[in-house]
Amino acid sequence: MPRHFLILYPSRPDQPPVAVTSLGTMVERIGLMGRPSLPGAAHRHVVGEAYLSLITYLGCSPQVGLGIEDADTPLGAWIELSAGFAEPRLIAGDNAKAPRCPQCRRFIEHWRTQFPAPALCDCVEPTPWPRLNWRQCAGIARQFVLIHGVFEGEALPADALLNALARESGCEWRYAYWRGEGDPLDHTLTLAQ
Ligand SMILES: [Zn+2]
Repeated sequence: MPRHFLILYPSRPDQPPVAVTSLGTMVERIGLMGRPSLPGAAHRHVVGEAYLSLITYLGCSPQVGLGIEDADTPLGAWIELSAGFAEPRLIAGDNAKAPRCPQCRRFIEHWRTQFPAPALCDCVEPTPWPRLNWRQCAGIARQFVLIHGVFEGEALPADALLNALARESGCEWRYAYWRGEGDPLDHTLTLAQ
């Protein structure tokens, strides 16, 4: 059964990662993440007390399991922290659509076979992958915060969360949705060659 994640990441692809413990302290202070980790998973934690005010569910009756007993279900909300990567990584699930060049407006239809060779659009100089518009279904960064159990378009980070992340990290943050089998962090692709 595929898993669904909402993924938060710094907008600057080369933003240096912080120690995973510092990242944990940061999202715990914001109230997104609670301290207890899931059984057998040190970097997966229950959601924090402010979770429902930081993540905005768009439906009138959101399907979300907030308890540790919900963790193994598709609807269970929990937070996973990534250690830092040595170089920017593309995180893109089965749901990822063709990114679009913000200048010439061309969609990079065959990006899965092209990446990480330069993206071919109609611009004279290839537009770097991080500058393409991934339309909230992929992202490029050196560190990620993952929220399990959020279906694509079902919920989004509130401004309060994005503002808090920016304040704590000194860099703006973006978000994307991921759907696929397994753990998104095991399926990232290296940008550097
Ligand atoms: Zn272009």
